[in-house]
This record gives sequence, structure tokens and C-alpha cells, in this order.
Amino acid sequence: NLSDKLDKALHVLKGHGQINEVNVAETIKEIRRALVDADVNYKIAKDFTNTVREKAMGQNVLSSLKPGQLMVKLVKDELTELMGGEAEGINLSGNPSVILMSGLQGSGKTTFSGKLANYLKNKKTKKPLLVACDVYRPAAIDQLHVVGDQLDIEVYSDKGNSDPVAIAKAGIKHAKENGFNVVIIDTAGRLAVDEVMMTEISNIHKAIEPQETLFVVDSMTGQDAVNTAKAFNDILDFDGVILTKLDGDTRGGAAISIKSVVNKPIKFIGTGEKMEAIDVFYPSRMADRILGMGDVVSLVERAQEQFDEEEARKLQKKIAKNQFGFDDFLKQIQQVKKMGNMKDLMGMIPGAGKMMKDIDVDDDAFKHIEAIIHSMTPEEREKPQIINSSRKKRIGKGSGTSVQQVNQLLKQFDQMSKMMKMMQGGGGKKLMQMMGK
Ligand code: GDP
Ligand code: MG
Repeated sequence: NLSDKLDKALHVLKGHGQINEVNVAETIKEIRRALVDADVNYKIAKDFTNTVREKAMGQNVLSSLKPGQLMVKLVKDELTELMGGEAEGINLSGNPSVILMSGLQGSGKTTFSGKLANYLKNKKTKKPLLVACDVYRPAAIDQLHVVGDQLDIEVYSDKGNSDPVAIAKAGIKHAKENGFNVVIIDTAGRLAVDEVMMTEISNIHKAIEPQETLFVVDSMTGQDAVNTAKAFNDILDFDGVILTKLDGDTRGGAAISIKSVVNKPIKFIGTGEKMEAIDVFYPSRMADRILGMGDVVSLVERAQEQFDEEEARKLQKKIAKNQFGFDDFLKQIQQVKKMGNMKDLMGMIPGAGKMMKDIDVDDDAFKHIEAIIHSMTPEEREKPQIINSSRKKRIGKGSGTSVQQVNQLLKQFDQMSKMMKMMQGGGGKKLMQMMGK
């Protein structure tokens, strides 16, 4: 509606100037703080913001039309890149495809085993088998059976056997004999990394040679997640990471830290206790989440607003003092032109909407306007009222336009200046009424 348009117009008039270097440094600092707040490891956050700063300089963010937006885009793109760019799937090329779960106790291995089995089963071509290799707690085997029953997915277990390697092998054999094409092996974890657990998972890994070894990690463990991931990766050289418990207000910074340290793709996320709470990991969505959490976007925008305000004050003063001249107008036109669809954008400048009707807006129309202004002397641009008929003739000749065209532009410029003055002088409401009718 009109009031929106006027808002936008004011925004255009405020100019989309530059963030200065102090602003960039300040913004970078805020971004770093936001990342650390979102649980990103400090050193990683620092490296990241250094990269962003360099890119910002390289891409001339400082002199761009909308430095704030460009900055946000740069940060988002970099974050996405850091987390792996495109989403990566699971290798299901084997027959059966064997998927091994690893991770600490409580990270969500058993829950995710069920979720993944269900997810694959829903793909119709997959018939998954769950295998219970957590032999230390009888309750763990029962837990997997409960999950399996709920999903109508078979669970292979052997309560009398205390050798997880033997159970895993027997499970795969059972799958082959019974037409299962995916085998998901749930294993035991400990509360912290210890040698017994590492040796055990390493032995299972060597014995069954899975197509896919997944490391499951609780995203709420924040900084600790990095050390755990590194320990497991050193032993297993795993293929992918599963980030669980990303529901609620978990910040997700662990995704960045883990990816940076082990350089393995994050493949799925867990977003709840229910079996449906599984999602493919999309780096760009996670970037949005992290940015949103840290309020980076609004921080950057605020920095930008401060700048705009200063610019707007200057412009306001000029308008109030009747000093808004053709040079200012030219600047506005040039910015508008760079921004894209001219008809729409010109329509945002108060008073310019009418001009659009009179002159069919295309590049030529702009060329005429610019040519006319360029043919004016600096004094004429500053004080258009001195442009008399002999000056008009001269300008027309110089710009290859007619006196009529010069006249038209002068008239429209005069109207525009008046309207702008009205708006600045608190006559905005009146103006809106005028324009609305
Ligand atoms: P395991 O020891 O690695 O097998 O972990 P479990 O699968 O038993 O999960 C430990 C706890 O975390 C259980 O209470 C699960 O319900 C819960 N859990 C697992 N994944 C998620 C998740 O994505 N979101 C939430 N909120 N809870 C989860
Ligand atoms: Mg378990």
C-alpha cells in the first residue's frame, strides 16, 4: 500500500551509503561474539570472522550499494560453506548396506537408529534390520526392541552373547538370509571417551567393514562435542555426523565446530524424541539458525541504520534549507538505477511516480534526464531557479534534448522538491492523503 511505499521511498532517499571501516570492525566483533554465544569454538569463530573480514574487503563491501545486506550474505555464505555446502546423503550401495552407529552414551544412537530405519523404510525400496550390539545393559537391547516394535521393523539381538563383534556379524548374516538390504548396527557408548569403548567400536568396525560409519553427537554438549568427535574420528575415520537434540533452543554452533575439526559432513539432525523427528542436514538452514540465534542479521542491520540516519540527516537539512539540488537528484537516480527494476524503484521516490507516467521509463528516459543534468553548470544544479530561457536553450543543445524536455524535467524536479519538503516538515500525512486520492 501507499504508506509502505512511502516508507520505502524514504529508505531510498536516505541513501544506501557505506559502512565505514570502524563499522566493519565493530560488526565483525559482534559476529564473532554471536558465534561464540551459539557454542562455536572460539578459535574457529576467530578464524571464521577473519576470513569474512578479508572477503568483505576483497569484495569492496565498503563501497557497495547495500553494505549491510552484502555483509549478512557474506557471513551466511561463509557459514554454509564452512558446514559443508550441499547436503550429503548416506551411502546405500551395499547389499546389504551396513551402517554402524558410534558415539557416547546418551548421545541418541538408539533413538537415531530407529529414526533412520524408519526413514529408509518409508523410501519403499529399503528393508532395514536393526541390530542390538549394546551388550552391557539388558535395558539397551529392550529399548531397541521397543523402538522396532513401534515402527514394525525387525530387531536382531542375542541376549546370551556378550561379544558385540559376533552379534554384529550374525546380524548381517541374518539380514542376507532374510532379504534385508539395510543393516543398522546400534552400539554401546560410555559417558566419556575411554579406551575400552574405543577398542570395542574399533573392533566392530574392522570386522564388519560398514559402508557407512556414523558418529552421533548431542548438540547440547557444545564445546565438548568437538573433542569427542575428534577422538572417534581418529579411531574410526567415520563417514558422517548426526547432530541430535537440535529441538528446543539448542544453538547448533557445534555443527560448525565439529565440521571444522574433523572435516566430515553432517548428514542428519535429530529434532525430538519421536521417531519422525529426523531431518536431512542442510548447511544453509543451519546457517540461518545460527545467524538468527546470534541476532547477527539485526546487528548488522542496526549498524547500517546508524549510517543511514546520518545520511538522512544531511539530506533532511538540505531539503529544509531548499538546498536539495540536481546533484542530489542525480545521485538518487544513479543509485536507483543500480538497484534493478527502474519503474518500481522510481515509483518509490516521492513525486517520481508521476514522472514515470509522463516519460515512459526505460534506459533512454534516464539517459535524457542524466544528459540534461550533466549539461547544467554546478551553479544551476544547486539553484535550479536561476535556469532562465537562454540557459534552458543551452542545456537543451548540450544534452541533445529539446527545451520542452528541459522544461518538463525542471517542473517535475520542482514538484518533487516541494513534496519532499512537505514530508520532512511533518506534512507526511497530508501528502499521503493527497497521493492516495
Ligand atoms: P544412546 O545412549 O546413544 O543410545 O541414546 P538414546 O537414543 O538412548 O537417547 C538418549 C536420550 O536422548 C533419550 O531420552 C532420547 O529420547 C533422547 N533423544 C535422542 N535424540 C533426541 C532428539 O533429537 N531430541 C530430543 N529432545 N531428545 C532426544
Ligand atoms: Mg543406546
